Amino acid sequence: MNTRRAGNIIVVGAGIAGLAAARELVDKNFDVTILESRARAGGRIWTDHSLDVPIDLGAAWIHGKSKNPIYELSLRNQIKTAPCGFSNSVLIDDRGKQVSLIQKLKFASRADRILPRLKRLAKQLDRDISVGEGIRKILEETKMIDQEVCFLNRHLIEFEAMNGASIDEQSLFALTEGSIGFSGGDLIFPNGYAEILESLASGVRIKYKEIVESVEYNEGGVTVVTNRGTHQADAAVITLPLGVLKAGRVKFSPALPASMQASISELKMGLFNKVAMRFSEIFWPKDCDMIEIVPAKKRPVCQFINWYKYSKEPILIGCVAADTAKDWETESDEEITWAMSALLERLFGKAATKPIASTITRWGQDEFALGSYSVVHPGATAQQFDALAEPVGRLFFAGEATSRLHQGTVPGAYISGVRAAKQIAERAFTKAKTNYLN
Ligand SMILES: Cc1cc2nc3c(=O)[nH]c(=O)nc-3n(C[C@H](O)[C@H](O)[C@H](O)COP(=O)(O)OP(=O)(O)OC[C@H]3O[C@@H](n4cnc5c(N)ncnc54)[C@H](O)[C@@H]3O)c2cc1C
Repeated sequence: MNTRRAGNIIVVGAGIAGLAAARELVDKNFDVTILESRARAGGRIWTDHSLDVPIDLGAAWIHGKSKNPIYELSLRNQIKTAPCGFSNSVLIDDRGKQVSLIQKLKFASRADRILPRLKRLAKQLDRDISVGEGIRKILEETKMIDQEVCFLNRHLIEFEAMNGASIDEQSLFALTEGSIGFSGGDLIFPNGYAEILESLASGVRIKYKEIVESVEYNEGGVTVVTNRGTHQADAAVITLPLGVLKAGRVKFSPALPASMQASISELKMGLFNKVAMRFSEIFWPKDCDMIEIVPAKKRPVCQFINWYKYSKEPILIGCVAADTAKDWETESDEEITWAMSALLERLFGKAATKPIASTITRWGQDEFALGSYSVVHPGATAQQFDALAEPVGRLFFAGEATSRLHQGTVPGAYISGVRAAKQIAERAFTKAKTNYLN
């Protein structure tokens, strides 16, 4: 049996992109070591148990299951998923009145047409504007009655959650140049997204608490220096989050190409945070997937996931994005749970009780993420994600911000990891004859 290794590869980061790359490379007989700064794998996939049941404080959804590689991975590994989507949401206006299906059918259609109209507008313009400006332009020509405005507000809240940025900080052009997403229903993992990591990580060498400080590369190989020592390899896969690259936490020598540096500086990290709350008893509708607010004015909380449905425990997960998420990053746990309680009381009246325990994320302050996911601000372009995906000598790049078509998502990160591994395998194959990786 030929046990000669195809090459020695370092993967920086054990998030989904790093694990996907490592899995592919190990399966292709490369000698792979992942260097991970945290004491756990998964990165922005983080299943927490502090409220005594699995709760995803990072990614939670498979958005669209059709041809989605993460859904396929869950099927292959018999990992439990469950539908969790807007079609089974309870809609409540901000005076606490439940919005009926008839009202939804009557008043939502004009708001539903906003996204296609925005895309059409993007194609007509020759200068980029913000999504907010685009919406204001459309509204100049569209008369909406109050109930329709409430549905529009719900859409805007969702828009801000999907990209972690205010509509005034999102590029209109990126709507037609960037993420295409997957179709089909949305799913969550009742036992936690982290289950997906296990099959990828199995048999892969992961060194934890290795904080990469510098990466030096030349024609002979790659040297990676961490807080714990120096590692050498034939090539490296770099999956550092855009936030970490932006902060210049890792020094590259020679410096990364100018096009890559421009993308790193011009693309931004958005914010999306979660507030998981345990109550003494359930006071909200038991069977819905989510509780959504259809407000007269844009409200801070975008939705509550009804975790009772998936765990049979009285738990709600509140989601906040964009400006509110930014403001709440510097507020205390007490202030945040107070604000959440006040909102729940407004929605459910006296039935609402205060949470007895809570877990709150602050992804903007997480030093190994520095934000939730990438977003294109007006002035930047979605093509800049492509520049982040270009190999540079023996460095191969992966991560959600290197995937223009599925940026900001788990499948995007996964696909990019597989891509980086294939790029290495192709080079190893062609260069093996000239001893490139030997
Ligand atoms: C709150 C939240 C909700 C989300 N919801 C969804 C969702 O429902 N569906 C969806 O598809 N996506 C969602 N996302 C986005 C999704 O989580 C990410 O796009 C995806 O997990 C990114 O994977 P990645 O491998 O590119 O990066 P990461 O998971 O961030 O992996 C990078 C790894 O590098 C490590 N690292 C950082 N710095 C260093 C260093 N100096 N040295 C060594 N290692 C380092 C990090 O610790 C991390 O493990 C959400 C994200 C957040 C934050």
